[in-house]
Amino acid sequence: MQTCAEFRFYEELNDFLEPARRKRAFSLGIDRGRSVKDAIEAAGVPHTEVDLILVNGESVGFGHVLRGGERVAVYPEFERLDISPLTHLRPAPLRNPRFVLDTHLGKLARHLRLAGFDCLWQNDFGDEEIVALSLAQKRIILTRDKGILKRGIVERGHFVRQTQADAQLREVMRVFQLESASRPFTRCRVCNETLNEISKSAAAGRVPERVWAALENFNECPQCGRVYWRGTHYERLRRVLQAAGE
Ligand SMILES: [Zn+2]
Repeated sequence: MQTCAEFRFYEELNDFLEPARRKRAFSLGIDRGRSVKDAIEAAGVPHTEVDLILVNGESVGFGHVLRGGERVAVYPEFERLDISPLTHLRPAPLRNPRFVLDTHLGKLARHLRLAGFDCLWQNDFGDEEIVALSLAQKRIILTRDKGILKRGIVERGHFVRQTQADAQLREVMRVFQLESASRPFTRCRVCNETLNEISKSAAAGRVPERVWAALENFNECPQCGRVYWRGTHYERLRRVLQAAGE
């Protein structure tokens, strides 16, 4: 008997799909009682390309039987990682900490980027996507949702206690001992891209007149073209970071 489940394939697995099904969730007819492996291969994706399958957010094996109505997320082979307990405190500072943040933490993501940290955040991130990015790119999950961190496959994460963005930034800086790794105003707060230095003349007309006259150093985001300078945002961030070190 035929029924349906919702499938979403990630990264290079999309190469095996027909164009209309790439990088989006789609409904796939399945034979009730058949395995998830059969359904994946029916969609055109060889099972050998698949490393991780989440059904309704839970990791399952190829033999998992679908009954219909499930949400199935399928991921390609990741760099293999040892599964270790959740990271709450590190004995030593992380050398190159990178983060992925849940949908509630957009403001914290922008703060952390201003402090120089690589942060992935989108307002439509699903839990599966956050977990997958964490595993694939060794990113620390920052979340207000304990459920994500309870998943067996999650390797590193932190439940953010504070609710206000400045306090959250201080919390994360403290927990992961980030002070020495901070590089303020080297990353775009919107795109997460690393900024390039530009000349004073290149900044002319793109920043307030009074700022342009007063400063010599300007940075530009290669993605969105925003220009950054050491102005009020910088001073405010510096105060927050200083408070984190106290
Ligand atoms: Zn940008």
